[in-house]
Amino acid sequence: MGLLKKYIVMFRTDMKNAMSRRCGLDELNCFILLVSFIYIVAALFIHKWSLVLIGGLLFIVCCLRIFSKKMEQRLKENAFYMKYMGSVVEAFRYWKRCLKMMIKTKSDAEYAYFVCKTCGQIVRVPKGRNKVNIRCPKCNTTFIKRT
Ligand SMILES: [Zn+2]
Repeated sequence: MGLLKKYIVMFRTDMKNAMSRRCGLDELNCFILLVSFIYIVAALFIHKWSLVLIGGLLFIVCCLRIFSKKMEQRLKENAFYMKYMGSVVEAFRYWKRCLKMMIKTKSDAEYAYFVCKTCGQIVRVPKGRNKVNIRCPKCNTTFIKRT
């Protein structure tokens, strides 16, 4: 058992070392992965197999980018993507965080969790106070929420 664990740790550090010199899952890759996933799911629903091909191709492009060693080129591509889609990516991250905090709020009996819209800081507020004016401790933005 101990030996297996040791091997897993070794494998993980190996992977980490290998991936640190590769592009990995940057924002552009996340986007390509999402689009290919949508294509494949859509194809399953409307039975259009040409869409699977497009989705598959996008998936291959994504894999090639993930394991690419030409970091400079990949960084350039990602920077180009972020230049035009940066705000969308940020908005998406914000909503993802909000959803996470909503789930956390549901499971917490005492506190409600909110995400600051300006800086992304997570703010914890005691539950059961109805409407509260929340001030973000990081950037001092205030927003009104129902707890
Ligand atoms: Zn803030």
